[in-house]
Amino acid sequence: MMKKNPFEEPSLESETAESLSAKLLATTTQLIKANDELKRLEKERSEMLANISHDLRAPITAIRSAIDYLHSGKNLTKEDLDSSLGLIDRRTRFLENLIQDMYYLFCIEDTSKELSLESIPAASFFEEYFYDAIVDTRYDAYQMHLDLDSHIIGSIKIDIQKIVRVLDNLFTNAAKYSPADTDITLKCELSEDSHFLFIKVIDHGVGIPAENLPLLFNRTYTVSSARTPGSIGGTGLGLSIVKAIIERHQGTVGCTSEEGKGSCFFFTLPYTP
Ligand code: ADP
Repeated sequence: MMKKNPFEEPSLESETAESLSAKLLATTTQLIKANDELKRLEKERSEMLANISHDLRAPITAIRSAIDYLHSGKNLTKEDLDSSLGLIDRRTRFLENLIQDMYYLFCIEDTSKELSLESIPAASFFEEYFYDAIVDTRYDAYQMHLDLDSHIIGSIKIDIQKIVRVLDNLFTNAAKYSPADTDITLKCELSEDSHFLFIKVIDHGVGIPAENLPLLFNRTYTVSSARTPGSIGGTGLGLSIVKAIIERHQGTVGCTSEEGKGSCFFFTLPYTP
């Protein structure tokens, strides 16, 4: 058998065949990945539709039975009337909020709709938000704190209304799931390389069981499964909206929590020093 000369250049043909087969392998791997992602998205979509139809059906069934009860006209007292009308009112409001939140979420996730981005000084944005929050009656019962890193003198490029919505969702949750008189803190820190801001909303409320943490921001779960039973009028979409807005700003979201002790919801935003 002839020994191959190690210094011999590979022939053009064999080189082409090798590079073609490497390209083919890379393309096949990419196709398999894309196919898996498509399957995952399809599964997520059908789970979400199942959750949405469940969430729409439950209040509609309650409204229908209240109406049937009123129609039956069986010696209805004023209290009966008031309680049935009250139930119809609450469930209708819930449906309105749910439909509004779903529409808002679909609009944010639609990347063909541009954000209204503005470059603004980061520190004053969070200070202003905080000073609006402390005069907001929803937080009257809480001890509100602002902890702003004094090195934050640069700017953030954000859609102001949308980031206000993120902070509103996190603040109202902190209040909803915490007893009166506890602390709620807005903390802003710089990343080590000064390319990101870490914004944290910290409460000392009921906390979240460890097994629910990975599901919190997942929109297929938040609608029905991850919502605290009897959660105070929430649609269960608040955190999915937070995630969608932050991801459109090239940021990330997360939560650390200890049941019975409290939670820290955080997100990052690109920062210009
Ligand atoms: P909801 O409208 O139900 O509040 P969210 O998407 O805002 O919907 O939150 C989903 C679930 O995450 C809530 O039902 C609650 O169980 C949990 N959660 C969110 N924020 C907090 C918090 N600060 N403390 C404890 N639990 C929370």
